[in-house]
Amino acid sequence: MTLAQLDLAADVKKILADLGVSEARFTGGTLSVTSPISGAEIGRLPEDSAAATAEKIEAAHKAFLEWRQVPAPKRGELIRLLGEELRAGKAALGRLVSIEVGKITSEGLGEVQEMIDICDFAVGLSRQLYGLTIATERSEHRMMETWHPLGVVGIISAFNFPVAVWSWNAALALVCGNATIWKPSEKTPLTALATQALFERAVKRFVAEGGTAPANLSTLLIGGRAIGEVLVDHPKVPLVSATGSTAMGRVVGPRLAQRFARSILELGGNNAAIVCPTADLDLTLRGVAFAAMGTAGQRCTTLRRLFVHDSVYDQLVPRLRKAYGSVAVGNPLESGTLVGPLIDKAAFANMQTALDGAKAAGGTITGGDRVDNGSENAFYVRPALVEMPSQSGPVEHETFAPILYVIKYSDFNEALALNNAVPQGLSSSIFTNNMQEAETFVSARGSDCGIANVNIGPSGAEIGGAFGGEKETGGGRESGSDAWKGYMRRSTNTINYGKTLPLAQGVKFDV
Ligand code: NAD
Repeated sequence: MTLAQLDLAADVKKILADLGVSEARFTGGTLSVTSPISGAEIGRLPEDSAAATAEKIEAAHKAFLEWRQVPAPKRGELIRLLGEELRAGKAALGRLVSIEVGKITSEGLGEVQEMIDICDFAVGLSRQLYGLTIATERSEHRMMETWHPLGVVGIISAFNFPVAVWSWNAALALVCGNATIWKPSEKTPLTALATQALFERAVKRFVAEGGTAPANLSTLLIGGRAIGEVLVDHPKVPLVSATGSTAMGRVVGPRLAQRFARSILELGGNNAAIVCPTADLDLTLRGVAFAAMGTAGQRCTTLRRLFVHDSVYDQLVPRLRKAYGSVAVGNPLESGTLVGPLIDKAAFANMQTALDGAKAAGGTITGGDRVDNGSENAFYVRPALVEMPSQSGPVEHETFAPILYVIKYSDFNEALALNNAVPQGLSSSIFTNNMQEAETFVSARGSDCGIANVNIGPSGAEIGGAFGGEKETGGGRESGSDAWKGYMRRSTNTINYGKTLPLAQGVKFDV
């Protein structure tokens, strides 16, 4: 079957109908959604107006006032049920992710697995929102720190992880006692509708079990940038977690700061790996191939810059060229495909502009050409391997496409400096069996990124660790470790259980 013959709209309709989403939510509206697999329209959603958005925020605030009173472990029970619904809906939601974003089947399913994993994490967390007891200098006093719910948490997400990013934020925000309001990418609202339907199923079961869950605990906003800005500017949203390009963060960050709201910014990356003389080259080849070509180069953690020691360059790079030439590009729903389509025409144009720039800067390009799959509106490309004389021109920017720039180095410190010499600071890797190089890479004078890996590529994070990056990547942290603290407010409490009133620092004030 050719791509043009695929009836993806029917597929989408069935998946959403099975989840109980009414057809009026994805047909007849103004927001047209196309599948990058075929370029054909798969939905038309009614959009929220600015006024409707403001009303939804007010309603979410009311939900917060109730939800914060529910004990955290009980809130965790709702997320446990959400995890169960996601398990049951994994195949359907995973397929929808593949259809709407163009991810290969295993990556579509992997994205839903990530949602399940964060739910499991959040359930445990719901019994571990620990504060401290702190020694006080005053007798018969106790000082402690408690963590309280914050309010309505706004979530703005990018197209490339259309549902996992919501879950990283929502699972934590909800066990922390907040209400959430989500504006997904205007390119991927269908997976958001499906996710919301699964959440509503979980709420229904929670209430049937005797749980208390207010209406509007999790709300969906459909629309583009203008609706996102209403969320960013609204005084009843104390935290916005925004995932997307650095250009978006440059607008959103200052607007939130202007009203002293909190932000978690998860922005663009320009991730590198260093291949050292002692690297296991078989392992390196596989690590590089997945990190650079996987998801058609459309992960924030995609490997974009590769620094290869001159002693192993001629062993590794020809093998990489071969892998680039033979990797299966095509329909992501077919087994065997490793590289699906780019999200749209603009992504293809950006890729070609970057390749032109690389050529002008002295690069030698393998691949990068369009793969004709019989559909004018679908953009499949052969991933590009670009051997560069230096780190310059487009190498310094994130192009959201499968381009890997390869640069030869001779000195470890030089490679480390190149790793750190770009404005972005998300993820990084080193391939080495030299303990000093590995330890230096993850040390204070090593990689300046939020993620620094040894002998694995920079992409494919697990939810247990805090996820995020430095510099123009925005500095936010989501997901595991103590990222939950970003979704709560901290209160320091001093309690006097004595009969006198000693003041701190020995101050006397007797009236
Ligand atoms: P994008 O910046 O175009 O859009 C992201 C989201 O921001 C969308 O929902 C969009 O509607 C919204 N938005 C844009 N401008 C806004 C504004 N002024 N106010 C409020 N909302 C606004 O990004 P994209 O093309 O969807 O995604 C790709 C980018 O996202 C890449 O740069 C990638 O590296 C980045 N990304 C980062 C992470 C991370 O965790 N660091 C994860 C995924 C993607």
